[in-house]
Amino acid sequence: MRIRYLPETLINQIAAGEVVERPAAAVKELIENSIDAGASAVSVDLRDGGKTQIVISDNGCGMSAEELVAALDRHATSKLPDDDLLHIDHLGFRGEALASIAAVSRVKIQSRDRESGEAWEITCEAGKKSDIAPSAHPEGTRIEIRDLFFATPARLKFQKTERAEFGAVKDTVTRLAMAYPKVAFKLIHDGAQKLNLSAVLDQQSRLANILGRDFGENAMEIEAEREGVRLSGYAALPTYHRGTAQYQYLFVNGRAVKDRLLHGCIRAAYADVLHRDRHPVVALFIKLPCSEVDVNVHPAKAEVRFRDPQMIRSMIIGALKHAIHEGGFRSASTVGAHTLGAFRTEQNASNSLPLHRRSAAAVPMSHAYQGGQNSYVGNTALQDSAETFYSPQTHFHDALPPQAQSDAHIEENIEAQTFPLGAARAQIHENYIVAQTQEGLVIVDQHAAHERLVYERFKAQIAESGIEKQGLLTPDIVELDESQVHVLMEHAASLSKLGLDIEPFGQDAIAVQSVPSILASRMNTKRLIYNLVDELKDIDESNLLEEHINEILSTMACHGSVRSGRRLNTQEMNALLRDMEDTPLSGQCNHGRPTYVELSLKDIERLFGRR
Ligand code: ADP
Ligand code: MG
Repeated sequence: MRIRYLPETLINQIAAGEVVERPAAAVKELIENSIDAGASAVSVDLRDGGKTQIVISDNGCGMSAEELVAALDRHATSKLPDDDLLHIDHLGFRGEALASIAAVSRVKIQSRDRESGEAWEITCEAGKKSDIAPSAHPEGTRIEIRDLFFATPARLKFQKTERAEFGAVKDTVTRLAMAYPKVAFKLIHDGAQKLNLSAVLDQQSRLANILGRDFGENAMEIEAEREGVRLSGYAALPTYHRGTAQYQYLFVNGRAVKDRLLHGCIRAAYADVLHRDRHPVVALFIKLPCSEVDVNVHPAKAEVRFRDPQMIRSMIIGALKHAIHEGGFRSASTVGAHTLGAFRTEQNASNSLPLHRRSAAAVPMSHAYQGGQNSYVGNTALQDSAETFYSPQTHFHDALPPQAQSDAHIEENIEAQTFPLGAARAQIHENYIVAQTQEGLVIVDQHAAHERLVYERFKAQIAESGIEKQGLLTPDIVELDESQVHVLMEHAASLSKLGLDIEPFGQDAIAVQSVPSILASRMNTKRLIYNLVDELKDIDESNLLEEHINEILSTMACHGSVRSGRRLNTQEMNALLRDMEDTPLSGQCNHGRPTYVELSLKDIERLFGRR
């Protein structure tokens, strides 16, 4: 074996593996170049998901003849004039994107230099450049890439389907478009226009165009500033969430990033109000001096390092939590739309009604809540969240009598209707409170709502004087195995602070001596203890129980709340509604499901084809 120097083309092909791993990565690099060139309009035209052809045109400053030749060389860039990696004020700086792309594909670049007014073109195939020639290009730069990865068959094999590649390209264009509202973007795939975003003055309008009205109606504005770091953007109400983190759009100094730290912040901020498997939709923009952040971490520049990650973390979590609390008991407006969707499916399934009129009335409804034409969060994503909202509750029906029973004591209470959650009219299936509001009706999931109220009361008690406990006359004995007893007893002191006093009872049982008084009358001690053991098992010793207090409280609240199946009288129901209005964050249960849904009279009229 001899050590040898690799030829230039091979070096570029190896580098290409990191910089452009798929068509979307090439598109990202090229759009970033267009933005760096000061373009106000960028168009992307793909064939076969970008696998056979990508054409990007811009109206930026263009390149002169010499620049055009140099642009295709590795480590040739116009963007680091002072050799200073601490002052990167362009999206590019590594000077390797064009060289990498050209090493693995067939590239043709046409460009008109704004200064000289001359236009030139050059081609390059698997890293071999042609001579440059005069061109008839009108303005800006057009880069055509054909047969990406034809020169690296190994990589070619790993391409995904056209649909998957196109999806990734669309995601890339969307993210860049969010960060640069003043640039117009067009995306065309196999001749069909997929995105058409005209230039707008502010970020808010661009976000509305991309994420749709739905998001606008269900998002909170985020604004914060600390030590020269500015955070802005929008974050969804806790009830407006998705099954993946794909709809979390994060930007650092105009750069779309997928950063673990930042995603972690969002998770932490919503931990209290959203189940771990659900992800709120957010679009957040962080602006900070370039000396505070290193963007040179990742060849595709998708990750960044902050000089003071702790500060960034606490600022983002703080701002999001503040907004969530301000949101109070507000619950997502789409929840009502989901409900209507559910009505519709049942009708269709039963097939007992003249469908043509009903579906004619119902179909426009479901569209009314989607975003505009450019809405990127499509129908399926919403469907997905609708299903998770409703599926966990279907089991209630199994245990219930088939007939809906209404509360016999409905008292006229006109005044109560002026409250946001209205006047309780009936309880059905022993879990759902139906209330009349001035504008329509509200259906409350009494279990979910009560669980949230109990949880918030726990938190308030802790903040004041600690959780109030009540001793049990005869201790509850819970049988466990030895290791479970051990786990629980390890945390006995902390559990005691949370209102739960336990003692070992023989080798394989514990005696519960006291419970939080809020729960005393309703608690299923055994179930709670089993659940606590499961939760405590996952907490390693280095990790204090105190850090998991909210999870524990949430478990306790769940086991001590009014279960479905308990009859409430009108007074009790109204008391619950007033409690919800007075309690922050009562719009969702501890798992991010809504605690109530609202239907306006208008929606109801639509359901019956009156509108
Ligand atoms: P980088 O963007 O890191 O500098 P690239 O390989 O992406 O590296 O581009 C090399 C150089 O080519 C850029 O520095 C820029 O001067 C020039 N260039 C690339 N694309 C364009 C464009 N669309 N308009 C004008 N100049 C461009
Ligand atoms: Mg570049």
